[in-house]
Amino acid sequence: MKSMKRLFPSLILFTLLVSACAPAAPQATTAATTPTQTSASATQAAVSPATSATATAPATAPAAAVPAATQAAATPGALPTQTSAAAIACTSPAALTVALTEGPYFKAGSPERSSLIEANTTGTKLSLSGYVLDTNCQPVAHALMEVWQANAQGQYDNAGYTLRGHLYTDDSGHYQVETIVPGLYPGRTEHIHIKVQAPNGPVLTTQLFFPGVAGNDSDGIFDPSTLLNIQQTADGLAAQFNYIINTH
Ligand code: FE
Repeated sequence: MKSMKRLFPSLILFTLLVSACAPAAPQATTAATTPTQTSASATQAAVSPATSATATAPATAPAAAVPAATQAAATPGALPTQTSAAAIACTSPAALTVALTEGPYFKAGSPERSSLIEANTTGTKLSLSGYVLDTNCQPVAHALMEVWQANAQGQYDNAGYTLRGHLYTDDSGHYQVETIVPGLYPGRTEHIHIKVQAPNGPVLTTQLFFPGVAGNDSDGIFDPSTLLNIQQTADGLAAQFNYIINTH
């Protein structure tokens, strides 16, 4: 009994010391609640495991890759308040994203994938991300997105599915797809073809364009309202675009 009385204050002191020296919990909280990373930096963390951030906090790296989902969980019923360049600027009722021609090269049956980049893909990497919203600025979860484009030489793969794919938005309406900057082909400026469709909703077919491309001015299909918001990243470009679609 006597030894227990002596031991008890020591245990309390030891517990206090351990609590004061444990940094793991505060770090995890910071990573989860302050997703100030842009999509681009999240991508870099994912592809550059040797970065100091990843090396010192490996347990938080997966959370950084899905900041939108984390925000949605923290604020149910509210729009994600992402602080990156992809921040949602939407005022209800929002104008629908403009529909643009499908062109001659759409091909049904593309594979589901979040990266169109394959082992032999050349060109400037482009990480394309954003949100799909309805006209009330509400996220559209599980929206189907078809992406197809020319390769860096301006050629479409009409025999197979190179640089073709489809994916779905997550619960917060967010999407991200890895691809490359398309090359030019006669008569067209740089563009990426997209179809977006809410579950059981109508299909929006449109095209995305790149700011500052000389060919934009002479392209009859070009529409400035679907210009991408682009930033340079360590290994290419990050681009954002938010779609406003009809859901029924
Ligand atoms: Fe095209």
